[in-house]
Amino acid sequence: MTEFSSRVEQISISGIREVFEAAGEDAINLGLGQPDFPTPEHARQAAVDAVESGEADAYTSNMGTPALREAIAHKHERDEGFVVDTDQVIATAGGSEALHLVMEAHVGAGDEVLVPDPGFVSYEALTTLAGGESVSVPLREDLTLDPAAVEDRITDDTVAFVVNSPANPTGTVASESDIREFARIADEHDVLCISDEVYAQMLFEGTHYSPYGFAESDNVVVVNACSKTYSMTGWRLGWVVGTTERIERMLRVHQYVQACASAPAQYAAEAALTGPQEPVAEMNAAFERRRDLVVDGLEDAGLDCPRPAGAFYAMPAVPEGFVDEVIERGVVVVPGEAFGDHGAGHARISYATDEATLKEALEIIGNAARAVR
Ligand code: PMP
Repeated sequence: MTEFSSRVEQISISGIREVFEAAGEDAINLGLGQPDFPTPEHARQAAVDAVESGEADAYTSNMGTPALREAIAHKHERDEGFVVDTDQVIATAGGSEALHLVMEAHVGAGDEVLVPDPGFVSYEALTTLAGGESVSVPLREDLTLDPAAVEDRITDDTVAFVVNSPANPTGTVASESDIREFARIADEHDVLCISDEVYAQMLFEGTHYSPYGFAESDNVVVVNACSKTYSMTGWRLGWVVGTTERIERMLRVHQYVQACASAPAQYAAEAALTGPQEPVAEMNAAFERRRDLVVDGLEDAGLDCPRPAGAFYAMPAVPEGFVDEVIERGVVVVPGEAFGDHGAGHARISYATDEATLKEALEIIGNAARAVR
């Protein structure tokens, strides 16, 4: 048999998938990274209309439809207060492709990318696929990313660092002063700040700030998607915002690997972004109630957990043997190691599940914690 590329041999299937496969069919799954709400009706309907009228039959512009890019530019002005042109936006197949384009366009052999640890699994894998090397940045005790820890690790080989707020897997949110620091670091060290903001609208406390709004240089790109905000993970629609020059480099990759984002999904996304935002507020209110339920339940179980201010994850510190024990008892959580070496001793609990199921799971979590302590 012919050999595989050394790049693909260096990455493996995410540890999250392995956990799901190990769990029984009746297990309560608190491992999922997607909201358990329907896509807003007006977004679905826009896709249906585009399909029925034939509008969605053909390729769109490689960059995405002008109307969608206009909607994305408007969203950033409305929600984050920064102004971008439509040619500074490229629509992608989800946040995943967006991250891939950023890495392919900026990372090469021997280049280093600083990634939060624990952090979302794609950062390391996509860096490796692009030929670069990821360098872990351990989080603070409170599971936030420390700008000083990022700055300390910058070398001549560093080309980029990743900021993800609100964060997967921790649910923590960066302060305004930390976001300003990340912008300063991008400016002063001339390295790219990759700001993954897919959970930007899923916030229970405080305000979401984007380093894009604070940087004086062109060294910030923003990755976002409809996936989480509008519960549209299946639609596969995300985007990148950056300078026209950076977007043009990403377009070179995108036109060969994707041509354009799915046309029906682009129409749905445009409607989601420009239509009523009440479904987002309703979903967040439900997540906030569940956040409190989960954090209180974890505290009762004697598990220490910084109170997440966003996304829909909690990441308590757990005793040794806890993850195996709780999975054995029928509740799937993801071991912290799946998100990097510094995730060890923690577990990610997703609360994208109804309250009754969460209560049942928390009882099992309490029993498992007592059993291994
Ligand atoms: N970034 C983060 C932090 C995520 O958690 C995810 C999805 N789990 C993505 C990006 C990719 O999202 P999408 O489904 O839009 O590809």
